[in-house]
Amino acid sequence: MERQKARRRIESLREEIARHNQLYYAEGRSRISDRQYDSLYAELVALEEAWPEFQSEDSPTRRVGSDRSENFPSAPHSDAMLSLQNSYDPREVAAFVQRVSRELKRDQVSYTVEPKMDGVAVAVRYRDGRFHMALTRGDGRQGDVISANVASFAQVPAELPRDWAEAFPGGGVREFEIRGEAYLSLGRFARLNTAREKESLPLLANPRNATAGTLKTLDTQEVRRRGLSVFFYQIFPLADGKRPGPTEPDPFTPAAGEFPDHQAELEALRRLGLPVNPFLRVAHGPDELLTHLAELEELRAGLDYQIDGAVIKVDSRADQLRLKSTAKAPRWGLAFKFAAEQAVTTLRAVTLQVGRTGVITPVAELEPVSLAGTTVSRATLHNWTDMGRKDIRPGDQLVVVKGGDIIPKVLRVLLPNRQGAPRPVPVPTHCPVCAEPVVRDELAAALRCRNPFCPAVLAGRLRLFVGRDAADIDGLGGQSLDLFLEQGFLTGPADLWRLERQKLVDLPGWGELSADRVLAGVRAAADRPWEAKLYALGIPQVGVTTARTLAGAYAGIRQLAAASWDELAALRDVGPIVARLVVDFLNAPAGRALVRDLLAVGFFRQEENALPAVEAAPGDNWFAGKTVVLTGTLASMGRSAARKHMEGLGAKVTGSVTGKTDVLIAGEKAGSKRKKARELGVTVVDEAAFLRHLADAGITP
Ligand SMILES: [Zn+2]
Repeated sequence: MERQKARRRIESLREEIARHNQLYYAEGRSRISDRQYDSLYAELVALEEAWPEFQSEDSPTRRVGSDRSENFPSAPHSDAMLSLQNSYDPREVAAFVQRVSRELKRDQVSYTVEPKMDGVAVAVRYRDGRFHMALTRGDGRQGDVISANVASFAQVPAELPRDWAEAFPGGGVREFEIRGEAYLSLGRFARLNTAREKESLPLLANPRNATAGTLKTLDTQEVRRRGLSVFFYQIFPLADGKRPGPTEPDPFTPAAGEFPDHQAELEALRRLGLPVNPFLRVAHGPDELLTHLAELEELRAGLDYQIDGAVIKVDSRADQLRLKSTAKAPRWGLAFKFAAEQAVTTLRAVTLQVGRTGVITPVAELEPVSLAGTTVSRATLHNWTDMGRKDIRPGDQLVVVKGGDIIPKVLRVLLPNRQGAPRPVPVPTHCPVCAEPVVRDELAAALRCRNPFCPAVLAGRLRLFVGRDAADIDGLGGQSLDLFLEQGFLTGPADLWRLERQKLVDLPGWGELSADRVLAGVRAAADRPWEAKLYALGIPQVGVTTARTLAGAYAGIRQLAAASWDELAALRDVGPIVARLVVDFLNAPAGRALVRDLLAVGFFRQEENALPAVEAAPGDNWFAGKTVVLTGTLASMGRSAARKHMEGLGAKVTGSVTGKTDVLIAGEKAGSKRKKARELGVTVVDEAAFLRHLADAGITP
C-alpha cells in the first residue's frame, strides 16, 4: 500500500473505532459485532506496525475505550484496568501457550480457565474491612465513581468478616481492591422486561446493555430493584489507593499481601464471602486448555447468565510479572471467545420455508440482532411440534443461539408476549410455494410437500440430477448450482444444455476453463448409462437399484412412460407403491414436459440400449430371483452386457461366490470361483448354457 493511502486508511480506522468505542463504553450500545470490531482493530494494528511514522498516542490501539459519562465524578484506578486480548481461533490458544513457554523458558506452566462473563467490569475497594468505593472501567486509567449503585448489590457486603485481613498472605493489609464483572441473570432480565412492558416502557435489548445502563442509573433504589449480580475474579492489596509494585531488587517477586497465584486469589475471595464463579479449571498445555474450553462451551446453554467465552490466565503471579503487559492488554492472559453465541431478540413474524426435500419449516423473522459475528434476522424454529411445545408467538422475546450450524436456532421463549392475545401460528395445510396439500411425516415430526415438481425442491432435484450416480456432470457442484439458480440460469435440468458459455465465463470466480469444463460435462451426460439417466429424473422412491431394474426392462424413456401400472408392479424390486409413483410422475403434465425437454436437448435417446422390451413378464424366466456370479470371459458379449441382461430378467448379480449364490456363469479362464462354487455345491453353467437360457427368456445378443 502506498504511503498516502495507508495514512488515510489509518485515520479513517481510528475515527471509526473511536466512534464504536464511544457507543459501546459510554452508551452501552454497539452497532457492529465484536468480531467486526476486532477485525477493524486488527487491521489498524497491522497498518501502524507497517507504517511506524503514523503511530500516535491518540490512536485507539494505545488507549482502551471509555465508559466515562458526564453524570458521574471520576477517579483514577489503582492499577490500569485492561481488557485481555480477544481470540476466536483455537490455533491462537496454542500460539499463546507457545509464546508463554518461550518467554518463561520452560514448558511446565499452569493456566487457569474461567468463564468470560458477558457483563460490565467493576472495581470495588474496601478499607479497614468496610466498603469504600466502586469504579467503572472507564478508559482503563480513570473510571466513573458508582459507589452507591454497587453498594446496593445484595452480593456486595458493606462490612467484611472480622478476620478479613487473614485472607491475605503476610500481614499489614488495610486496604484492598476486588475486580469483577457485574451482570443481570437471564431470569431477572426477563422479569424486568415483563415489568417494563406493563408500564409501556421500551424493552431492554439484552442483559449486558441492561447491566451497563443500570450501573449508570442515578436512582439507587432502581438499581436495587433490578437485582444485578456480580462475580469477582481479582483481589490485590492497596497502599494509599495504589497497587504496590513488585519489591526491588527482584522485580518478579509479588509485593507483600499479593497472592502467589490466581487460584489463591479466587480462594481468598471465597473466604471473604464474595461471589466467585464456580467454574474453574487448571490446565498445563494447549490440549488440556482446549478440553476445558469445550467443556465450558457445552455448559453454556444451561447457565442463567450470558458468557461469551473463556478467560485463560497464567496462574503464577511471578510469571505474570515476567510476562508483563502492553499499554493495552496483559500479555499473560487471553480471552477466548466462543463462535457460538446466544442473543435475545423479538419475534416479528413466522414465515414458511420449503426445503430441498420438500420439508416445510417455520422460520422466525427476528428483530436484527448481533450474534456470533453476524447480524441475524432469521432463525429456524425446527418443526411444528417443537414450536407448539415452546408456544412461540409473534411479539415474544426469544433466546437465539448459533452453534456449529450456519443457521441460528430459537432456543426458547424468554418473555412471552400475550398482549392483544397473539394467536399461535397455524400449522399450514397447503404448500406455500405450489399450493398442493401437505402431508405430515410423523416420524420426523415434519410437514412435507410431496409434489415432486414443486419449484421449492428444484435445487434438491438439480443436485440429484448432476450427481455421480446420475448425470455425473463434471465440474458442477452444489455451490455452482446455487449460483446458477441465483442467476436465473436454471428452471429445470434441461436448462443445463442451454447454458451460455459467455455468461458462465463472466461469473465471479469463473473463467474459460471452468465454463468449458461444465459444458463438456453436460455434453458427456448423454453417454451415461440409461439406468443412471433414469435415476437422474428424481422420481420419488426410485433409487439406483430400482432405476436399474426399470432400465433393464424398458428400452428407453418413451417405452417406460408408456408402461402401465400393473406391468411395472410385476417387476422385481418395484411393487405396487413404487409403480404408482413412477406412473404418476411420468404422466403428470410437469413430468411429461420434463421428459420431452430432456429428449429435445439430447439427454434421453429414443432407445437407450440394444435390449428389446421384455416380452415375457419377468419372473417367468430361468434367471428371475436367482443370485448369479459371473466369472471368466465370455466370447459372445462383454461382462457388463451380460450383467445387464440378467438383471433385466430379475437376477441379482454379485461379485463373489458364497452360500447364497444360486448359479455361477463360468466363461473362459474361470479359476478359483469355479472351484469354490463346486465346493459349495453351487450350480455352474458354461457360456453355451447361459446363452440358451437367455434365448429362452427372449434375448438373443
Ligand atoms: Zn410445494
